Amino acid sequence: MGKLSFLEDGIRELHESGLYNTIRVLEGPNDPWVRMDGRKRLNLASNNYLGLANHPELVKVAHEAIDKYGVGAGAVRSIAGTMDIHVRLEEALAKFKGREACILFQSGFCANSGVIPAIVGKDDVIFSDELNHASVIDGARLSKALIVRYNHNDMNDLEKKIKEYTNFPKRLIVTDGVFSMDGDIADLKTIAELGEKYDCITMVDDAHGEGVLGKGGRGVVNHFGLGDRIDIEVGTLSKAFGCAGGFAAGSNELVDWLKQRGRPFLFSNALSPSEAAACLKAIEILEKSEELVGRLWENSRYFKARMKEAGFDIGNSATPITPVMLGEAHIAHGMSKRLFEEDVFAVAIGYPTVPKGKARIRVMVSAGHKKEDLDFGVEKFIKVGREFGVIN
Ligand code: PMP
Repeated sequence: MGKLSFLEDGIRELHESGLYNTIRVLEGPNDPWVRMDGRKRLNLASNNYLGLANHPELVKVAHEAIDKYGVGAGAVRSIAGTMDIHVRLEEALAKFKGREACILFQSGFCANSGVIPAIVGKDDVIFSDELNHASVIDGARLSKALIVRYNHNDMNDLEKKIKEYTNFPKRLIVTDGVFSMDGDIADLKTIAELGEKYDCITMVDDAHGEGVLGKGGRGVVNHFGLGDRIDIEVGTLSKAFGCAGGFAAGSNELVDWLKQRGRPFLFSNALSPSEAAACLKAIEILEKSEELVGRLWENSRYFKARMKEAGFDIGNSATPITPVMLGEAHIAHGMSKRLFEEDVFAVAIGYPTVPKGKARIRVMVSAGHKKEDLDFGVEKFIKVGREFGVIN
């Protein structure tokens, strides 16, 4: 037996239990229709909410940035990797989010796993929603603080736990703004109030709120009109902004501190200049017009209404994320496979990402879909849903 034989065993077990994830490959850009296995398929799986990932204006400025800056930043930000374009993007993001300052990270994952350990440590406590994203969980673990999970979006449970765990120098409440598997929105207003009442630092991961919620897509804090009542806003540039990267926004002191102590910022190479340029353009587009955000919501309302009318259970999402609830994992996986054969790319999600018995296909519509695309998707869902006895 080789030293690594456990890998073979692990992979076999994943296959046997139906949990092995086969990664599908796109043979071109992440558009509303994508080429996969040589055929065009309707894309109902991406986080490219506003269709910016292949937007001609973003592509153009990315090309120009390569001509001006080259393809790589060449170093970590704190050594020789900070270019003026990074600084301009940080300023633009801070302004867009209505905060004093902003710091870029290489991804939303890096932002969460960098920010939390820079804010709290082994003597402190973190109150974390039980459905928070993996990057929040990992950041919390890296910090070595005591992690107290509260029931999902249950503000009574959160307050009870805050009252229970009092003897800590720092206490942090952290939540996703929009929960990515169900599309529900955190009760951020109550979290801000609890933070103020009990002197807890508050942090939100707004990965699925940016470009979606709030005025012109300014995010979940703006959606609730909370201004700077949430201390730390983490975001990603990889979803609605269509690029890649992450950031944290808040006070000048927060950002100053994170530039000294945010480990992914200090020890991992800077975002490429072309990514920064594309992202700057994404913000410019959002600041100029609310049209894309409006179209996203219009599309998602249309899709949800048609799916409901067809008899599907689409959960309780308050955002464009649309979980088509199917119960058992084999039904979700089977339907996803059949949909793919019908040229619809929509991903099945099962345990352990969601609880057992709550498997689903998570549909993500974008501002780039046309009504006829959505009709095509719904018709295929109806066809396949009937085959599986999910609807009549
Ligand atoms: N937070 C949430 C809630 C997410 O869904 C994701 C991406 N899946 C991230 C953070 C990480 O963002 P990124 O892809 O930029 O690393």
